[in-house]
Amino acid sequence: MRIDVLGVGFDSLTIEEAVTRAKALMTERRAAYVVTPNPEIVMACRERLETMQAVNAADLVLPDGIGVIYGARILGTPLKTKLPGIDFIQALMADMAKEGKSVFLLGAKPGVAEAAVEKLKAQYPGLAVVGTQDGYFKDDAPVVEAVNAARPDLLLVCLGAPKQELWMQRNQSLLNVGLMAGLGGSLDVFAGNVRRAPKAFQRLGLEWLYRLMKEPKRIGRMMKLPKFLFACIGKKLRGR
Ligand code: UDP
Repeated sequence: MRIDVLGVGFDSLTIEEAVTRAKALMTERRAAYVVTPNPEIVMACRERLETMQAVNAADLVLPDGIGVIYGARILGTPLKTKLPGIDFIQALMADMAKEGKSVFLLGAKPGVAEAAVEKLKAQYPGLAVVGTQDGYFKDDAPVVEAVNAARPDLLLVCLGAPKQELWMQRNQSLLNVGLMAGLGGSLDVFAGNVRRAPKAFQRLGLEWLYRLMKEPKRIGRMMKLPKFLFACIGKKLRGR
């Protein structure tokens, strides 16, 4: 059963449980997809029904970051743990590497996915990277065709939210892949262009603060966080 946070249903799982579920979905090979909403995306879902539907239609909905954890706690239905998308996918790819499974990298600016390939090959020997495509294409069809020719076990869709969620839902029935995961700026991190917050920030749930310090222009986006928390408090007070 999913835990409702302002209309988005989250799966309450540890990272090990999430990886086990993802592997099972991958075996089914029906292009099931994973999303990792943060408060900003939850708020975007509330503003646009299409986004809400694409997110809730995912087979795995993981809470990316501390904000959703606070929200669920305020609502009286706590989630087990925060599960940043990048932690989840690294655990999954480490597991896939042991079995020689394959991944296709879709998204980010031209050249980023290629740089990520080198880093991923070094980090996960055994993982086969079977294709890349930047995230600035016009038509879906040639991209779907390229992905299907590569038949990956995993397709990383890193187009930013909500573009990636809408893309996965729209193309799900056309794709010959095991599993998809929508992962925002992860390819920039894998490529080494963007650094993740130091572990201390991660442990304290302050990854967002580190990101804000590095990219102050994100402040507009991050103002969604207080709005999100107030919406959770409001919902709790109204008893709904
Ligand atoms: N992006 C893309 N196609 C687009 C818009 C964005 O491939 O049309 C990429 C962008 O280059 C970046 C990622 O999507 O790599 C979004 O990163 P952001 O940090 O905004 O995502 P978040 O992790 O915050 O969701």
